[in-house]
Amino acid sequence: LLTDYAWPDDKVEREVIERAGFMLVSGPAEPSSSAEIDALAAEHRPDAILTCWAQVSERAIAASPNLKIVARLGVGLDNIAVDAATERGIWVTNVPDYCVAEVSDHAVGFAIAWARGLIHFDREVRDGRWDPASANLRRLSELTCGIIGFGRIGRATAAKMLALGCRVAAHDPYASNVPADVELTDFDALLAKSDIVIVHAPLSPATRHLINKDAISKMRRGSLLINVSRGGVVDTGAVIEGLACGILSGVGLDVLEDEPHVPAELIAHPGAMITPHVAFSSDASLIELRRRAAEEVVRVLSG
Ligand code: NAD
Repeated sequence: LLTDYAWPDDKVEREVIERAGFMLVSGPAEPSSSAEIDALAAEHRPDAILTCWAQVSERAIAASPNLKIVARLGVGLDNIAVDAATERGIWVTNVPDYCVAEVSDHAVGFAIAWARGLIHFDREVRDGRWDPASANLRRLSELTCGIIGFGRIGRATAAKMLALGCRVAAHDPYASNVPADVELTDFDALLAKSDIVIVHAPLSPATRHLINKDAISKMRRGSLLINVSRGGVVDTGAVIEGLACGILSGVGLDVLEDEPHVPAELIAHPGAMITPHVAFSSDASLIELRRRAAEEVVRVLSG
């Protein structure tokens, strides 16, 4: 049973599932309510549920006596009643690394856009101005980039920033095997030495508002803050203050605390670059996500 797929068709999933000799039933493509999933589960008694955002609740699991796997089309598992599934020996799978290239590209893209004034000058030219001196441009290879969260995506971003010639520092309390050209440092030291701070740490009780007023006060004057992890890791109010007082000359935010609400102060600030939680997305990453989630289903159903 495929539910709430966020794309126009179920071709990729269908091909993988049917090629392996199983049957695919597609529910509604729009994010479905928990009650709808419960009803679909009771109607089809699926062996596998593939879901993007829909809640696969304890009730949906109880209504599916044949269920062997719930496969998430994505990374997080917070929409799935994992405990209820595990109790019945049902597999719960995700695809943790389908968009490492895209998210790290997105972070680097914000850094280049800021250093080279790409968004600023594009706006100027469209508004009929031709003023090369209207922004302060930077040489990336003379800057230090600090990466908070040195996991899959943080490492990919580090490699790309190193290739651009930046010095790279990283902060991650759990990281090991850090390459020799990346300096592992504590949080405050990273903030103090970085011209560009990139947040790649996951949201957890420990990282909620990790970047708050106190952290921003320790950053270099005129620096850039990039967040491509989860909105809650960064305190939006503190960012707005940081931009207003000039500690931050720019921010690149793909995620916000209260998506899709964008505070008016950010909209109004010329240094704020905002994208609507798209860092994961590309034609290639979505196809990879769908194929690999469906392959997990085949793996489990084929024993
Ligand atoms: P990962 O698990 O490989 O790496 C996360 C790293 O953060 C780990 O090394 C972990 O030790 C570290 N970490 C944990 N707590 C920390 C702390 N307090 N300070 C510093 N580091 C800490 O995850 P990943 O695949 O690199 O993804 C990182 C995050 O990116 C995900 O959690 C997700 O929220 C986000 N993400 C966003 C998008 C998007 O579209 N914007 C897409 C995919 C992932």
